[in-house]
Amino acid sequence: MQSERESLFIVNNFARDYFQNILKNHVDGRSIGMAYFRNRGFRDDIIEKFQLGYCTESHDAMAQEAIKKGFKKEYLVKTGLCYETDDHRLRDRFWGRVIFPVHTLSGKVVAFGGRVLSSATKGVKVKYVNSPESEIYHKSNELYGIYFAKQAIVKQDRCFLVEGYTDVISMHQSGVENVVASSGTALTPGQIKLIHRFTNNITVLYDGDVAGIKASLRGIDMLLEEGMNIKVCLLPDGEDPDSFARKHNATEFQKFIQDNETDFIRFKTNLLLEDAGKDPIKRAELISNLVQSISIIPEAIVRDVYIKECSQLLRVEDKLLVSEVAKRRETHA
Ligand code: ATP
Ligand code: MN
Ligand code: MN
Ligand code: MN
Repeated sequence: MQSERESLFIVNNFARDYFQNILKNHVDGRSIGMAYFRNRGFRDDIIEKFQLGYCTESHDAMAQEAIKKGFKKEYLVKTGLCYETDDHRLRDRFWGRVIFPVHTLSGKVVAFGGRVLSSATKGVKVKYVNSPESEIYHKSNELYGIYFAKQAIVKQDRCFLVEGYTDVISMHQSGVENVVASSGTALTPGQIKLIHRFTNNITVLYDGDVAGIKASLRGIDMLLEEGMNIKVCLLPDGEDPDSFARKHNATEFQKFIQDNETDFIRFKTNLLLEDAGKDPIKRAELISNLVQSISIIPEAIVRDVYIKECSQLLRVEDKLLVSEVAKRRETHA
């Protein structure tokens, strides 16, 4: 007997193959889906490697094919590939979208992301739709690209963390393979542990705008707690890793990161300092915020390095920071 989990994986494999086949062989797949990827500059070998696909504008073509092949409606719904309308018809969740399969560490397809194509549906549909949680898909424990990145992460002893599917794919194409995406949400402890199996070193690559950076600061404290070394690299204004990778080869990309990455604590300190200006209350808040970040670092030596650095940046006595960090650690314990 197949377990339900196995059945869900089998349905996902069918869908992955189906979407891939549509992209490569169906008239709409070629003229719409493939044209979209080519237009974005994705090479054929990269499209193949990431098993990209296309789901046609028909609202239920995949569902019908699956039913014809004998797949149960129940599993089509449980994987989230389809949903049932009020009048009990089966609809394709990803109709009219290009498809990004999401792989586990061992390469099994647990979910899909689907992106609208720019023109016709613009404004009507959200840009990305993702599979819902299921028995086999716990979003908070998966990272897009980890299957394709793990060897390179070990080899480089570093993992780049980006936001989206296309960031991962474009970086691979330009030869930077040690990269995963959190897919638009804040990093979770499960995702961090996944990266930590392969390296201690993370570099977060943010788009050049400040709003996203601030929203993400919170998630990064969790990386400190795990005892990881974190760097942050801001890309030039208006670029995301995808657009940046398309303009630069791997050597240039790595060089840019080397020249522009900052240690996380220093990055956070400077960012908060800019915000606080000379306001004494804001500065006090800032110090307590940093003390909090430093106090969760497990290694005493690493805490000490950060305390020295922060005391210089903030122009406060390091003795003060040492005692504040110690106090915080007592309350954690
Ligand atoms: P593109 O370059 O195709 O526009 P992107 O990756 O730059 O895509 P962003 O808007 O920066 O898109 O979003 C980053 C990531 O966040 C996406 O790759 C996707 O995983 C996720 N995301 C974005 N919008 C949504 C949404 N509406 N629902 C769910 N996830 C989303
Ligand atoms: Mn470690
Ligand atoms: Mn983006
Ligand atoms: Mn983008």
